[in-house]
Amino acid sequence: MFMSFISGKHLLTQAWRDGYAVGAFSAHNAETIQAIIMTAEAEQAPVMIQVGQRVIHHMGLEQMKVMIDTFAKKTTVPICIHLDHSRQYNQTIEAIQLGFQSVMFDGSALPFEENASITRKVVEVARVLGIGTEGEIGKIGGTEDDITVDEEDAMITSVQDAVQFVNETDVDYLAVSIGTAHGMYKNPPNLAFERLQEINEAVKRPIVLHGGSDVPDEQIRKAIALGIAKINVDTELRQSFTLGMLDILKTNEEEYHLAVSLGRGRAFMQAKVQEKIRLFGSAGKASDFKLN
Ligand SMILES: [Zn+2]
Repeated sequence: MFMSFISGKHLLTQAWRDGYAVGAFSAHNAETIQAIIMTAEAEQAPVMIQVGQRVIHHMGLEQMKVMIDTFAKKTTVPICIHLDHSRQYNQTIEAIQLGFQSVMFDGSALPFEENASITRKVVEVARVLGIGTEGEIGKIGGTEDDITVDEEDAMITSVQDAVQFVNETDVDYLAVSIGTAHGMYKNPPNLAFERLQEINEAVKRPIVLHGGSDVPDEQIRKAIALGIAKINVDTELRQSFTLGMLDILKTNEEEYHLAVSLGRGRAFMQAKVQEKIRLFGSAGKASDFKLN
């Protein structure tokens, strides 16, 4: 038994080396936090719990951190609390001060040099404290939080951009655009595997896949084999949670015990988290992480 918080860098470097991916699951309230932690425990899998921009507006950054800490206290599996898609330097620093184990500064909407220089500053601060850092280069399609990237504007990250970005920032893991989008897909995506392989070989560090919901399992397995070590899943989990609550409310629309409807949401989400953990190959990997 140990307090199980782990640096994103340690976690993902090991997963990348060992050829599996860690699920980065988004949390939105107490029950979604529980769904992630309970499933990670049952599967003996290391996990990342992501705090995104929408829940920060809705609940607060510190409130989410404290709530996750509370539920994670008695866990035996490695857990990494991650700030997802921060577009403000100050917010990223605040998360570092609050004790997140991993932060993402997303400057992908900014000009290259601006993105690289702010990401570099975040890396410098985080590294002193042993906190992992994620940066993004290339625009990922779809809608996340309040930002929408149209299909025409989404672009496949070039190898040259990826290498230059990593050289200038020394970020620990890199989010690239290889044909996924945030949200559910109208047509199944076709990931740019060749580009992923080239980028992985060139940057030699874990690659992050955003928009992991609704990507066919075969493509997920192939992406992991080519260097993806962190897969963000949000939409599919929210969908499962909502379907669970509907499952209760459809049979009894006067079921006012929130523990019942939210509880069914949690159960549905657990099944989805379990499916993803097994698909990503992280089940049973908790014991590979030694006590510090
Ligand atoms: Zn994302």
